[in-house]
This record gives sequence, structure tokens and C-alpha cells, in this order.
Amino acid sequence: MLDKVLQAIRARHRFVVTSHARPDGDGIGSALACGQILRVMGKDAEVVVYDGIPRIYQNLPYADRAIRSTTVPPNDAVVLLECDSTKRAALEGLDQCFLINIDHHVSGRNFGHVNWIDPTVMATAELVYRLARLACVPIDPDIATCLYTALMTDTGSFMFEGTNEHTFTVARELVLAGADPAQCARHIYFGHSTAKMRLLGAALSHLHREGPLAWIWVTQEQMARFNAREEDCEGLANYALSMGDVQVAIFFRELPDKRYRVSLRSKGEVNVSSVAEQFGGGGHKCASGFSLDGPLAVAVARVVDRLRTEPVVLNSISG
Ligand code: 5GP
Repeated sequence: MLDKVLQAIRARHRFVVTSHARPDGDGIGSALACGQILRVMGKDAEVVVYDGIPRIYQNLPYADRAIRSTTVPPNDAVVLLECDSTKRAALEGLDQCFLINIDHHVSGRNFGHVNWIDPTVMATAELVYRLARLACVPIDPDIATCLYTALMTDTGSFMFEGTNEHTFTVARELVLAGADPAQCARHIYFGHSTAKMRLLGAALSHLHREGPLAWIWVTQEQMARFNAREEDCEGLANYALSMGDVQVAIFFRELPDKRYRVSLRSKGEVNVSSVAEQFGGGGHKCASGFSLDGPLAVAVARVVDRLRTEPVVLNSISG
């Protein structure tokens, strides 16, 4: 499929590169790198992000060139990274464009005109890296920094299941190309806002436990009180997963319309991607997400009830 992607790129000139709404490190790092790779190939490329670049990624190279928009600018093709549908990228007008879909989710779908979905890699950044290599685009320190940050964040700092020697080979090549691991980590893991830490405190103050399950939530009222943004919620679920006997952590975020965004995180015993798919979302075996209706007690009951059917949870509760 990679050769088809390259063919489709070579045959066109003006590109828009985008990722999903509420973008994470892989979405942003891959998009910024991909935009630059296309420019080095002599293309006109604009990186467009529906929600804009979250504060924590604004230090990345080329972040200042990315634009925030709700509609897709004129183009010959759109490269969508990390999306299972045009809906997930949220930009208006995508359905009328030629779509090149590059993704690594097990829940990925062939919605594009050209589709390259490889769930064996840990991050879409790895696919973008392979694209650059095949196109003979040199990986300079700035491209390497974007790709390394994407790989680092999507592997949970090389801690998530699936991280293997191949992941480290790619990381090594990116470091050799000029990415500085300490600096990349500093920007992401020591770059939190005060609002995020206050939100974390509030979420952990009502931590719920049941066997190997743990769940926390934040409300719109708390977000307003701490002046927190949506992006300040990224990663909060991991704190609930960090307890030794927890297998699955659930994070609920109240939305302005009273629905809830749910993030699931697993240590590997439970495939949370299939759980999310049952609720209309998707993701990976160890990290997935979806939205569902409130009120909170109903949302919690629906998700926890579903997780109670997982063998590791059943065994622990009945035992
Ligand atoms: P998060 O919990 O950080 O929002 O998402 C974790 C993972 O699940 C990410 O890889 C993200 O792309 C995926 N994910 C989150 N929400 C959705 C959703 O609504 N639909 C799909 N298909 N994937 C999602």
C-alpha cells in the first residue's frame, strides 16, 4: 500500500494534511512531519487541525505553520492521519476531496481513495517515516523531532504493550537523525499547565475502585473553575491506571451538551478497543475512546457493567 500512497502523492501537487479532532501527540507529530516531507518533495502542503495545536505540542517544529480551521482549504488531495472516518477529522468538505488515509489503529477503516492501515506499528509516525524513506526525503532534525515525539507519546514513553525492538530501532534512527529524546520528553512530560494539575487533583479526589477497575471523572464546572481546556484532560486516565492492581482505567469527561467523552486504558489483559467499538468508538487494545449520553451515573453504570463481563474482572470480583 505504501507504493500506492507514494504514487497518489507524486500525481498531485496541492495537499492538506490533517489528523483527528482533539489531536494527540501522534496525530500532531505525524501531521507536522508529513506536511514538511511533502514540501521537501516539492509539493504545496498545508497542515490543518480542526482544534488547533494543543499547547503541549506548540514547541514542535512547523507547529507555527499549521492552521486551525473548521473547513478544508482547496486541495488536490487530503492526507488523513490516525482517522477512521472523515467525521473523526471533523473538517467540513472532506467528503468532496481525494483522500489518502494513513492509520495504525486496529479499528481503522478503508474510507479513503487510497488506504494504508497497518496496526502492527505503534504509531502512525512510523508509517510517515517509511513514506519519507521511500520518497528519498532526508530526515532532518526537525522532522525527526516531530516523529520521535509522536512515537514517544503513542507508546506511552515506550511503556505500552506492543513496544518492541522494532519500535526502538525506529526511535534510534530518529535520534541518529537529530531528535533529542530528553528535550522531547521535557516538553511533553514537564510541560503541564497548572489547570491540568488542579483538574487531576479533583479527578483523583473521587477515584472509584471495583476489583481491577478504576474510574475517575471531571465535570464542566470543574473545568471552568480551574480554567482548564479540553487538552488538559489528555493523559489523566493514566493516573488511574498507575495503581498496581488496576487492569482497566476509565476516565469520563463531561461535555458541554451533557454527554460524556470516555477514555479507556488497559494494561493488556482487557482489549479496550473492542469495548470502545461496542459504544461506537475505537482505538487500540490498550487505549481507546468513545462518547455516550449522560447523566454521569448512567454513563458510568453502562461502561462499568460492560467491563464487568471481562474474564479478568469477573474472576477478580467473584474470587
Ligand atoms: P483518548 O482516550 O486519548 O481520547 O483516545 C485513545 C485512543 O482511542 C486514541 O488512539 C484515539 O485515536 C482513539 N479514540 C478515542 N476516541 C475515539 C473515537 O471516538 N473513535 C475512534 N475510532 N477512536 C477513538
